Amino acid sequence: MSTDTKLYSTTNEHEELRQAVRRLADEKIAPYAAEVDENERYPQEAHDALVKAGFSAVHIDEKYDGAGGDAIAACIVIEEVARVCASSSLLPAVNKLGSMPIILSASEELKQKVLPSIGRGESSISYGLSEREAGSDAAAMRTKAVKDGDTWVLNGTKAWITQSGISDWYTVMAVTDPEKRANGISAFVVHRDDPGFEVGNKERKMGIKGSPTCELHFTNCVIPEDRIIGEPGTGFKTALRTLDHTRPTIGIQAVGIAQGALEAAIAYVKERKQFRKAIADFQGVQFMIADMGMKVETARQMCYVSAAASERGDANAGFLASAAKCYASDIAMEVTTDAVQLFGGAGYTRDFPVERMMRDAKITQIYEGTNQIQRVVMARALLK
Ligand SMILES: Cc1cc2nc3c(=O)[nH]c(=O)nc-3n(C[C@H](O)[C@H](O)[C@H](O)COP(=O)(O)OP(=O)(O)OC[C@H]3O[C@@H](n4cnc5c(N)ncnc54)[C@H](O)[C@@H]3O)c2cc1C
Repeated sequence: MSTDTKLYSTTNEHEELRQAVRRLADEKIAPYAAEVDENERYPQEAHDALVKAGFSAVHIDEKYDGAGGDAIAACIVIEEVARVCASSSLLPAVNKLGSMPIILSASEELKQKVLPSIGRGESSISYGLSEREAGSDAAAMRTKAVKDGDTWVLNGTKAWITQSGISDWYTVMAVTDPEKRANGISAFVVHRDDPGFEVGNKERKMGIKGSPTCELHFTNCVIPEDRIIGEPGTGFKTALRTLDHTRPTIGIQAVGIAQGALEAAIAYVKERKQFRKAIADFQGVQFMIADMGMKVETARQMCYVSAAASERGDANAGFLASAAKCYASDIAMEVTTDAVQLFGGAGYTRDFPVERMMRDAKITQIYEGTNQIQRVVMARALLK
């Protein structure tokens, strides 16, 4: 395989979108970010502001009442929101994650049923792949779906589901033919009001504390037969194809968090004086800032290149998606840790945003496949 890729470029529309989202994030989301984290509460102000401005799911096609934004536009929204509040950036990010299996593989009828309300911001959607005993090895899942007349009956438990309790719709992978392992997994859409569906307790997390993460319980959960996404047995393939489109969005979420930490660090080192000088005057500090800026910019470019590749359906989009997610999230961990370092003791307190950003950055190395799994994916692509 070749890792060459065409260059992406942003249009005037993209840059106008960036300015609009940045303004909204600074005015309507940033003021609540610290308190949302402190109280581990849902960022309702961000949710309402994103929905009102039409930024909660820009990737949904105009045909389904969405804005028809491309993969770059979706990244711009997530990046600018994550720059001030990672928890809030999960509304647009998970709307893309949850709806992508439908966009890629569902029947036209199912698309018409689910996508328009998400496009209009009236509802949102989560993605249910992981289970307690099936994380990196997601194909080992135990949640089952059995056909019963003109319905499917789901039983089992999904774990770690982002935005659960907030979302109205849930894309859920379940085993329909246990003999076939990955080829016996199918994808379904479940609604919060479906009988036998229940959201479990909230996890107590290190970061992204404003974003609810819960289990989903299915106890003889009955859904109509036409809620299957694509053909039986194609669900795992759809789940993996989805990740080619959404790993760039996690990468760019990491870039947004790192950018926020970099900006906070730059402001602080110019202000803070030691040895009768601003600490920004010390070359040791300047080199740290330069390295942080270089890393954030390379990660940003990587994410946009991979988003553009996913939009075009390039053959190497999967490699690039894993590379972007892995690289950007590792960079975000480094940059946010260095930002805390540049704040000295103050950086270790909750009085400044960089400790929150460092805690928030960590999840980007774990979800949508850990960075070890991204390396497995990349090595497989390179060695095949
Ligand atoms: C806050 C949060 C939100 C999440 N949101 C969602 C969601 O919305 N939807 C969803 O479906 N899932 C979600 N997840 C689940 C997430 O994707 C999994 O946690 C992740 O894939 C890792 O699975 P695991 O936790 O079972 O870890 P494990 O698979 O048990 O991994 C443990 C360690 O072993 C390593 N490891 C495992 N296999 C290999 C291997 N082959 N080679 C090298 N190292 C390996 C891993 O890299 C990791 O370091 C979320 C998780 C969290 C914490």
